[in-house]
Amino acid sequence: MKQKLSTQLSVGFACIVLTAVALVSLASNLLIQRQFEKYVEAQQKDFADRLAGNLSIQYDRDSGQWNLDYLHGFGMYALDDGYIIKVYDAEKNMVWDAENHDMTLCHQVMREISFRMESQKPGMAGDFVTHWYELYQKAALVGYADISYYSPYSYKESDFHFLTMLNHILPVVGMISLAGAAAAGAVLARRIARPIVKVTEVTREIAQGNYKIRFETESSTKELNELTKAVNRMAGALKEQEEMRRRMTADVAHELRTPLANVSSQLEAILEGVLEPSRERLERCFNELGRLSGIVSDLECLRQIESDQMILNREPVALLELAGSVRAAFETELAAKKLDCIVTGESAVVNGDRNRLHQVVYNLVSNAVKYTPEGGKIEIAVKRLPEEGVISVKDTGIGIPQKELLLIFERFYRTDRSRSRKSGGAGIGLTIAKAIVEAHGGRILAESRDGEGSTFTVSLPFDSL
Ligand code: ADP
Repeated sequence: MKQKLSTQLSVGFACIVLTAVALVSLASNLLIQRQFEKYVEAQQKDFADRLAGNLSIQYDRDSGQWNLDYLHGFGMYALDDGYIIKVYDAEKNMVWDAENHDMTLCHQVMREISFRMESQKPGMAGDFVTHWYELYQKAALVGYADISYYSPYSYKESDFHFLTMLNHILPVVGMISLAGAAAAGAVLARRIARPIVKVTEVTREIAQGNYKIRFETESSTKELNELTKAVNRMAGALKEQEEMRRRMTADVAHELRTPLANVSSQLEAILEGVLEPSRERLERCFNELGRLSGIVSDLECLRQIESDQMILNREPVALLELAGSVRAAFETELAAKKLDCIVTGESAVVNGDRNRLHQVVYNLVSNAVKYTPEGGKIEIAVKRLPEEGVISVKDTGIGIPQKELLLIFERFYRTDRSRSRKSGGAGIGLTIAKAIVEAHGGRILAESRDGEGSTFTVSLPFDSL
């Protein structure tokens, strides 16, 4: 069964406090009891010692007499406290004996103390023990005393009362702490739970497509703050994704609409007999269809790349040869536009996927051909650096404005200048090229002088596996 955070925290806190109080009670109880026993034992011995001291001064050495009134007073006072006294003179003749004086009272006191201790401390096995004292006055022996009291110790009613109180106080303190802990747990839980509940609400909203929603309030707990920030970032990323998806759908529709409209209007006119089905018209339609299928295969390629399933079939690829074969593929276009295309540089062999790298260079040369006016120059150069092979495609074309140099690698991005031209593609070629190069662990860089031409440089590390 799922429990609320507040319940869990309160119960958790209460358990901890309960255990702590129980342990402290147990420990302190044992400790206090033991210390108290020792204290009382020492007190009793001390009292008996003092009694003996007081008894010794009741002897008058001048007259050789004991002050019997005082002895009687002391004896009765001590009996009250459970001390049974017998006093002898130096010749061990009895001077005063509590039992002789009031046997009934003595026995009653002894019975009461024994009964009290046996009933309250059953396992103690105590009894009245007689202690023998020698009574001195200024180093002269004046007599002896027998002092009997319950040993090892005996508690008075007030002592038992004190211990009972102590035993009651600890549970009371425990109960108060328990209530405090439960309350603290509930308060803490509410502080933690509030942002979590809010996160749940926000993520639910996000799941329903509301990507604009954000956390406004900051939590004072670091981790919760991180959580809310992460949710905000997630909402932002999802918003971007959603916008990109929309833009992509719109772009694809836009890219496909123009060639489709061209072909269908031409074919309609031919079918209705408005236009002659001349070879030239059919060729134009064919070319438009070719452009359409190019866009579709570009999209297919993009899908593959973006689904993170780019498996590279690596083998040694000589970049100079690769450049030559791409150049050969453009022979017709180059001739048609009277473009001068040269391949220069040194041999450099990288470990890569030949077909994919071919596509990279093909896309770059295709762009150079597309965006270079008639009579221009294209140079494909290969360079071998210590750790990487570099292949660059340089043209003398229309160039790319500085601020758009990074954007051209985005999906469907086309500069305004290229949009106005008939020859432009769908704006996916560079995205594909960049993804392939990065999958090889390399970099692609665009440089351009507006109106004077562009250079695309691809660097591929030798040691990438
Ligand atoms: P496209 O199919 O439109 O050429 P790309 O992704 O290959 O798509 O290129 C994106 C945009 O970058 C192009 O539309 C164009 O505006 C610009 N571009 C790419 N290469 C060149 C180049 N060699 N000269 C001028 N502009 C270029």
